[in-house]
Amino acid sequence: MKNTIPKIGIILIAVIVFPTLFFSAYEVTNLSKNQQVVDSIYSSQLENIVSSLNQYSVDAITRWADNIDNAEMLDREFMAKALSKFVNFNITVKGIFLLDKTNLFAIYTDSSLQASNLLHTINIREKLQSEDSTVLQLLKYIKSGYRKIAPVKIQNDSISMFLFALYNNDSSINIGGMIIDSKAFIPEVLGPKIQSMAQDRFIISVSHNNDEVYSNQLVPNQDRRIRLKEHLWLFNEFEVGIQLQNDPVEQMVKKRTQTNILMIVLMDLVLLIGAWFVYRSIRKEIHLAQIKAEFVSNVSHEIKTPLALINMYSETLEMGRVPTEEKKIEYFRVINKEAKRLARMVNKILNFSKIESGKREYHFIETEINEIVEPVVATYQHHFKNSGFKYVVLLGENLPLINADEEAITDALTNMIDNGIKYSTDTKLIEISTGLNGNNVFVKVKDSGIGIKEKEQKLIFDKFYRVTDGNLANIAKGSGIGLNIVKSIMEAHGGNISIESTFGEGSSFKMNFPIV
Ligand code: ADP
Repeated sequence: MKNTIPKIGIILIAVIVFPTLFFSAYEVTNLSKNQQVVDSIYSSQLENIVSSLNQYSVDAITRWADNIDNAEMLDREFMAKALSKFVNFNITVKGIFLLDKTNLFAIYTDSSLQASNLLHTINIREKLQSEDSTVLQLLKYIKSGYRKIAPVKIQNDSISMFLFALYNNDSSINIGGMIIDSKAFIPEVLGPKIQSMAQDRFIISVSHNNDEVYSNQLVPNQDRRIRLKEHLWLFNEFEVGIQLQNDPVEQMVKKRTQTNILMIVLMDLVLLIGAWFVYRSIRKEIHLAQIKAEFVSNVSHEIKTPLALINMYSETLEMGRVPTEEKKIEYFRVINKEAKRLARMVNKILNFSKIESGKREYHFIETEINEIVEPVVATYQHHFKNSGFKYVVLLGENLPLINADEEAITDALTNMIDNGIKYSTDTKLIEISTGLNGNNVFVKVKDSGIGIKEKEQKLIFDKFYRVTDGNLANIAKGSGIGLNIVKSIMEAHGGNISIESTFGEGSSFKMNFPIV
């Protein structure tokens, strides 16, 4: 039967716990998958925004390149006027230069001097030679009717340089360049586009080395939930970051995920607690069945010994084989003693079953406790002497009256004295005392027997419970119902039973009665 309990535990785990945990894990991964799908939808939307911003920058610069190209086709004087005007009116274009195959043909810069300073520090012709392949490509494209804009790397954080090819008619000028104030380009040119694309749905910000240079909305840094960050094609040192404004779908998905996970966890908890209760009650039932079986075997064992003795002595007497009168009396005494033991045993079981079924009736009478204790002790005197027990009786004087059922208290006291005798080994000493302790009158039975370990002290009052470790407890016969009867009797009297015991030294049981 003992193997059944772990088996049931395993079955419960297999039937309830594992499926629940698997289901929960499956649900949780599904939830995160949903989140990923929503994420990817948003991410592709955001990518589209970044690429249209990029395209927009390319278009703007290409448009300027077209303007420059158109001016270049004019008469030289008109061209100079047109291009000077262009750089002075366009806030972001700081300078223009035109080159023919071998020479730097013309430079137009605005009044801020940024571009002219830059053009003084770098040798454009040399720069172009280092970008030879780019230049060749630009010329190739323009021949096919397509104008491409190529950024040129220069060591400057706020200024960018671009090259483009020119449609070449008769003049030898074939490459144009633009110097652009990139920090102005972002708010001036991209700014309005960002505003119109973002509307109320996105927060788009452009940053340079993590410093924000432009955003359609100011957001405190800790609120940044940037979903996507990408470099601009033409202004590679700038990054566009996008986040969703308020993000209703994300919030909804998050909220649903949280509620679902919470529900799953709650459901798991309920199921686990349920499984635990089922397991506990099954374990309890099995344990009860186990100790009931042990009880039957213990009782049978206890009944068998006196029956065998009675049988043997009565048969000997019947056959007339006892030689002397003295022997006969001795045999009768044994029969009588064993019959009494049997009667006590049967009485105990009947008592227990009455208490269990709630049929035990108590007749309370105001009594002085010594009136009950003295006669019980008297019945034991003979037994104490015969079995080598020393006993001490200390009865309190003038004790207050208690409401007592004499028969029940006699049963309880008998049980306790029997136990004292049964569980004593070398030191055979029993002390029975009565007295007053606060509002309680007590009866105490103290022995110097095997004692009871602390962890067992609460359990010994449970029905059928017997201490199973320790030699004597195993050898001494018993049914495990005696102390449970005592406990029930004390509860019926409105009192209680307490224990003090040291393992290996002895125990003392005390019945406490409330005074009238
Ligand atoms: P039992 O019929 O087994 O004696 P009880 O209900 O009277 O049943 O006692 C329960 C258990 O408590 C006993 O099996 C024994 O282990 C322990 N016990 C009871 N009284 C004593 C005592 N005086 N000294 C040591 N152990 C005791």
